[in-house]
Amino acid sequence: MIPEKHFAVAVDGPSGAGKSTLAKAIAAKLGILYVDTGAIYRTIGYAVKRRGIEPRDEAAVRAILPELEIGMRYEADGEQHMLLNGQDVTREIRLPEISMYASAVSALPAVRAFLLEMQRDLARKHSVIMDGRDIGTVVLPDAEVKIFLTASAEVRAQRRCLELEQRGTPKPYDEVLRELNERDYNDSHRAAAPLRAAEDAMVVDTSALDFDASREALLALIREKLQ
Ligand code: C5P
Repeated sequence: MIPEKHFAVAVDGPSGAGKSTLAKAIAAKLGILYVDTGAIYRTIGYAVKRRGIEPRDEAAVRAILPELEIGMRYEADGEQHMLLNGQDVTREIRLPEISMYASAVSALPAVRAFLLEMQRDLARKHSVIMDGRDIGTVVLPDAEVKIFLTASAEVRAQRRCLELEQRGTPKPYDEVLRELNERDYNDSHRAAAPLRAAEDAMVVDTSALDFDASREALLALIREKLQ
């Protein structure tokens, strides 16, 4: 059903819409590479925090970029591991406080420019499903398939709570919802590559869909587009 050709699927949307879990499952199903670009921004956020730098200070952040060697390694199960100067930081970048650092550094044009080629290069070398905030609009404007995945803020906060609980780092719902709204606001109001649906993106709202239904809906859209 899926042609044996090179293609890219761009998945954008706010945090907690289910982008990464769905994109990962779809990548496995289609036999293509899954790229979680949020993890790359988180790696920069983590490096900035570790060095005690204020994440909104563009000059200070820009100054350390040349010293950061960002690497990615894929485990046999398709898990994307992030390396920072050779150190595996996959677990550390998921700590809740890194989310805000990632959101702050991702608003800096210097950071976005630093990561642009890395992301495009992955899509040149492999068929990919890449998730983020600006994949369909900026990183891969020619992607064969563009999906904008969303869900209500309340549903997304509930999902995030469950995920944090499963990771052993639970947080109260109200706090998760407040941070999520703050991050949505920052991500969609920044000047550099704000979160928005590409004009040719298909918008999918997963508020009322469970995981299996969301995955099937996305697979159907992708197959239809690639036919
Ligand atoms: O997707 P995730 O929540 O891991 O991303 C962390 C942060 O990185 C987001 O809040 C967003 O600010 C930023 N990001 C971005 N562009 C992307 C991916 C993530 O600005 N393509």
